[in-house]
Amino acid sequence: MRPYLEVLLDIPLYQTFVYRNSTESPALPGQRVEIYFGTRKTTGFVVTDHDTVPKSSGLEEKDFGKIKTIRRTIDKEILFDRNTISLAYWMADYYLCSPGEALGAMIPSGRRETETSQLPGSEDFYSARDKSLSTEQQEALEYINSNPGKTTYLFGITGSGKTEVFLRATEENISRGKGVIYLVPEISLTHQVSVDIKKRFGDKAAILHSALTPSQRLGEWLRIKRGEALIVIGARSAVFAPVRNLGLIIIDEEHDQSYKSGNTPRYNARQVAQKRKVLEGCSIVMGSATPSCEAWYQCRKGEIKEFRLTKRLSGGAPPEIKCVSLEGVEGPLSPELIRAVKEAKSQGRQSILFLNRRGFSHFFKCRSCGKTLTCKNCSASMTYHKSRKRMICHYCGWSIKPPGACPSCGSLDVNYAGFGTEFIEEEIQKNFSGYTYRRIDTDSVQTKDSLALAIKEFKEGKIDILLGTQMVAKGLNFPGVQVVGVISADTGLMLPDFRASERTFSLIVQVSGRAGRYFPDGKVIVQTFMPSQPAIDCACRGEKAIEEFYTKETAVRAVMEFPPFTRLIRFVFRSKKQEAALNASEEAKYIISDLLKDTCPGEQNMQPAGLQEENPPSPPYEILGPAECPLAVLSGNYRYQLLLKGREMKTIHKAARRFIREFKAPQNVYIETDVDPASLL
Ligand code: ADP
Ligand code: ZN
Ligand code: ZN
Repeated sequence: MRPYLEVLLDIPLYQTFVYRNSTESPALPGQRVEIYFGTRKTTGFVVTDHDTVPKSSGLEEKDFGKIKTIRRTIDKEILFDRNTISLAYWMADYYLCSPGEALGAMIPSGRRETETSQLPGSEDFYSARDKSLSTEQQEALEYINSNPGKTTYLFGITGSGKTEVFLRATEENISRGKGVIYLVPEISLTHQVSVDIKKRFGDKAAILHSALTPSQRLGEWLRIKRGEALIVIGARSAVFAPVRNLGLIIIDEEHDQSYKSGNTPRYNARQVAQKRKVLEGCSIVMGSATPSCEAWYQCRKGEIKEFRLTKRLSGGAPPEIKCVSLEGVEGPLSPELIRAVKEAKSQGRQSILFLNRRGFSHFFKCRSCGKTLTCKNCSASMTYHKSRKRMICHYCGWSIKPPGACPSCGSLDVNYAGFGTEFIEEEIQKNFSGYTYRRIDTDSVQTKDSLALAIKEFKEGKIDILLGTQMVAKGLNFPGVQVVGVISADTGLMLPDFRASERTFSLIVQVSGRAGRYFPDGKVIVQTFMPSQPAIDCACRGEKAIEEFYTKETAVRAVMEFPPFTRLIRFVFRSKKQEAALNASEEAKYIISDLLKDTCPGEQNMQPAGLQEENPPSPPYEILGPAECPLAVLSGNYRYQLLLKGREMKTIHKAARRFIREFKAPQNVYIETDVDPASLL
């Protein structure tokens, strides 16, 4: 045991702290310790130990007596090593957080290791092993296996056999004694991939599924650390798993937003994977039917090796997609959609209706004075939930009794508009009497079990119509489905966010993938008020227009100077006091402008107007704002944003880093830092 420890804390302070080791409960680097920080009991991560007080601590000899002793060591085993610490320091540097905050996000929070729940055994051994790969699959697999350290993209529709390639690449790595991390957007034990992995690899796999308790998670983490598990499958944070001799990181559904963390540190698993590739020499394989624009562009430039999987190996055929204009249609279900659902039923087949909005209606407007109803804490409209008889804010949860009359002028001529899934449920009852249906959204499905049950029943054909939000859009495969109806393709399209179009496109394509997976007669009906918007138009024209969408969308991004052509760092200043948030953001702008001039001298585009060419080169950076965030108030916090845009990340990174360290925000203002933001709302 060494007498002095340097620890990191999960707080926004960028330094290590020195503690005295405990003789009763001594700690080593890589373990967590319980300590007092000031008067607060908290957890520290031991990163190094020393025989004498380290000079880097800046402590003078007369202060040595004040060094506190740790209370106890939490872990029995070593939880993290030098690699993990290096990754944490990189995270801190890249995502502009403290190394302690980074480490805190990387390692499990469980306190005591418990047995992980026993996973279902592998009764029927998997047969796909005997399946011969298609030529396209074979080519991709051969490239992946013979090019360690490279990044590969499998670009192909649902059912084109991407998963099979992922699984075989995993087998190959295991046979070479290498470990694998397999990332999926969200993971449950019933997820097809966990089932497949379990069947093929048994106990060699650790499945970090969403039902694990923190201590079970810790148990799995240690199994990985000890090398007992060689394969890890999990959502975003599984990218940090301490897999030994890492050979491959798989990122399934690469475009999925859930790979980006919504809290500090706001990391993107794709970016972290890229860093592990550099540090540990592993390969990366990603796949999707709808890549992010960034990935698509990297493939175009040849930075990522792309393989197209064009054939549906699952049988079936691409569905017929029909775009139906809602102009002049009464109610949310068009005659075409109603007819299609009825036809499916008459053939003993099923339908899925998709709407990305829960509740009954989400818009209240007085026809006399024009008053709309917004949350008292947020700049968002309240959603009427009929079953609960409440108007609820989806951002902060505040709720009120639905007013019968206008709260402003007392008029009874009020209008509830903008339908949600609850509203559609009534439409189903009206239009399809005698049909069985189930609604799946976070209101109707409160537990994981009830979700699993609804899905099981639908799979078994006991339900005619499945109505739901995002929850029904992702990764589910139902053999009996003939019709998929997108009730409103427009819900996300008009959001003031540069990724709105990309997301809408991806969602329609993904939802469409649920139809005709096993039968050749799948039908998708996409209802919209904006049939000519490229995101909707291209998605509706099917596979042949996928390329066209990316070409058009990237052209727009190029003109607007948004990623992938620039990089972004976003600062949100939030405060209960509007003035305080605004002032801080304005002051920040001055400081950052100066810092940028400092780090990028002489590079600004400041020629007098007359001397400029017709298309002057854009400056290497730009600061946008401060401006109110589109969601200007959330939970009573006023929000202002500053957006740093750089042709290259390093240009804006340096200034942002100095700003974060040097700027002293007023007590009542909190700054959210987001590098490569996924959304600007
Ligand atoms: P994706 O991940 O692209 O959606 P999957 O890998 O899940 O596609 O494959 C879809 C279906 O096709 C699965 O049922 C899988 O077992 C089957 N499949 C995959 N590869 C082959 C193959 N080479 N021959 C026959 N069936 C295959
Ligand atoms: Zn609210
Ligand atoms: Zn009114």
